[in-house]
Amino acid sequence: MNAPLTAATMTAPVRARLAELTADDLPAYLYDLTALREHATAVRAALPGRVELYYAAKANPEAPVLAALSGVVTGYEVSSGGELAHVRTALPEAPLAFGAPGKTPAEIEAALRLGVGRFHAESEHELRLLGALAARHAAGRTVDVLLRVNLPVAPEALEGVPLAMGGRPTPFGIDPADVDGCLRLLGEPQCGLRLRGIHAHLASGLDAAAQVALAGRITDWAAWLSARHRIALPEVNVGGGMAVDYADPAARFDWAAFGAGLSGILDRHPGVTLRIEPGRALTAYCGWYATGVLDVKRSHGEDFAVLRGGTHHLRTPATRQHDQPFTVLPADDWPHPWPRPAVRDGRVTLAGQLCTPKDLLARRAPVGELRAGDRVVFALAGAYAWNISHHDFLMHPRPGFHFL
Ligand SMILES: *Cc1c(COP(=O)(O)O)cnc(C)c1O
Repeated sequence: MNAPLTAATMTAPVRARLAELTADDLPAYLYDLTALREHATAVRAALPGRVELYYAAKANPEAPVLAALSGVVTGYEVSSGGELAHVRTALPEAPLAFGAPGKTPAEIEAALRLGVGRFHAESEHELRLLGALAARHAAGRTVDVLLRVNLPVAPEALEGVPLAMGGRPTPFGIDPADVDGCLRLLGEPQCGLRLRGIHAHLASGLDAAAQVALAGRITDWAAWLSARHRIALPEVNVGGGMAVDYADPAARFDWAAFGAGLSGILDRHPGVTLRIEPGRALTAYCGWYATGVLDVKRSHGEDFAVLRGGTHHLRTPATRQHDQPFTVLPADDWPHPWPRPAVRDGRVTLAGQLCTPKDLLARRAPVGELRAGDRVVFALAGAYAWNISHHDFLMHPRPGFHFL
């Protein structure tokens, strides 16, 4: 069940802009870029100096969001040719790392032309492709590579994790059994690629203690590999996946504990630079999705509110099967001569306008009062929200966007 979220949890700029918007200006996404920058600055400050902070652009690639993080993060991780072109246009100077399963030759060529700093290689075939394309397009420049490895981890390390990309059979990364073959290939003089280290992004939704344990496991494994093959592996990218707790919008990933844990790992591995690439835990908190209640009704004993908009704008609760935390902003004017539909001191399911029972933003959520015409503001809508939603289904208008 959701912890109560009040209007006070909205930042002042978001509250002020909302007060200026009319019912027809909704739904709208509101992003507080100052709050984002402050949050990211605090995250950076909690990390040891020998940790590089990259932002995984796929969490929210809006250009003002990328720009707000500029100078705070070391660089940006991109996961497609589209993201690559977009981030490069938004931030021409930013260091980029290109990691994604299924990179096409055209995407790799574009990345080489744009001077991407790091490639996260997903297979031996991809390494060969990258080497062949680098020989043609990199014009003598060194092309730096990390091997993305799908390391085995103890099953309990990933217990209860919402998304696991590794530690079990998945299409992501290189199987540990295939790493020796990749190293042989990289050791050939004509290969044209420079191995810089290891990358592993194994899960999303881990707390600080679990993240530290995983980062330690990855870094120890990289050191073991380095010793076994007598090769330098100065960089270890331990991925993203820092948890966002949608059931407790005030909770935050414990960056201080995570930073202290990474310090311990760095002490054990003096020659290593660690890199992390969070997405969700950086941008989730800076975004709100605000809308209005079109109708309130009772169906077979349960109350429903139908909102303008829905999961075609904010798909997060549908994909994660959670209740998006929200707050109600009462709106007192009711222009109609008939009674205002309402639910009082009860539980209400917040649905959108789509003709599917899956279009639910929160289920059986407790409310003091919710009336047609009131406003509802969803929090934690700054990551994997608008950009993962199926905007064109039913052809409703798009929301407004406010970057504050
Ligand atoms: C998605 C992704 C991330 C970011 O994950 P979050 O859960 O948003 O922190 C980082 N690295 C890789 C390789 C990813 O695919």
